Amino acid sequence: MSRLEGILYSDDGMLDYELAGYINREGKPAIRCTVRGMLPLVCQRCLEDFAYPVDIVSDLILVEDEGAFEEIDEDDATDAVVAAPCLDPLVLVEDEVLLDIPMSPRHPLTQCKMQADAMEIGAEERKAFATLGVLKAQDKE
Ligand SMILES: [Zn+2]
Repeated sequence: MSRLEGILYSDDGMLDYELAGYINREGKPAIRCTVRGMLPLVCQRCLEDFAYPVDIVSDLILVEDEGAFEEIDEDDATDAVVAAPCLDPLVLVEDEVLLDIPMSPRHPLTQCKMQADAMEIGAEERKAFATLGVLKAQDKE
């Protein structure tokens, strides 16, 4: 999973995945992709590593070609994947994991080293806005 590797802090991560084919309620062939595990990511706030828990269950409808993507209902819970004869399960799993990882991954608020600093900055900003508010009020008078 070279695309995923590029964003990992180290290769200590572990993922379990399961792909199960089935026919969905609309009679279309689909795959349920389940991925669980942990990935070491770099927190974008404090730049230290943290364990990102992966817990994905996604239902992918198999379509014959990309043109069929538009026929799929605009249902957020459902995605489509082209049923190529050489559909690589690992590529599929990697796609799902990459979609799941936030653009800017961070520690949960209470565990981040930078949290204390971030709160101070927050307070400063609030003070600045409060001052701005006073100035604006004075303008109106
Ligand atoms: Zn952090």
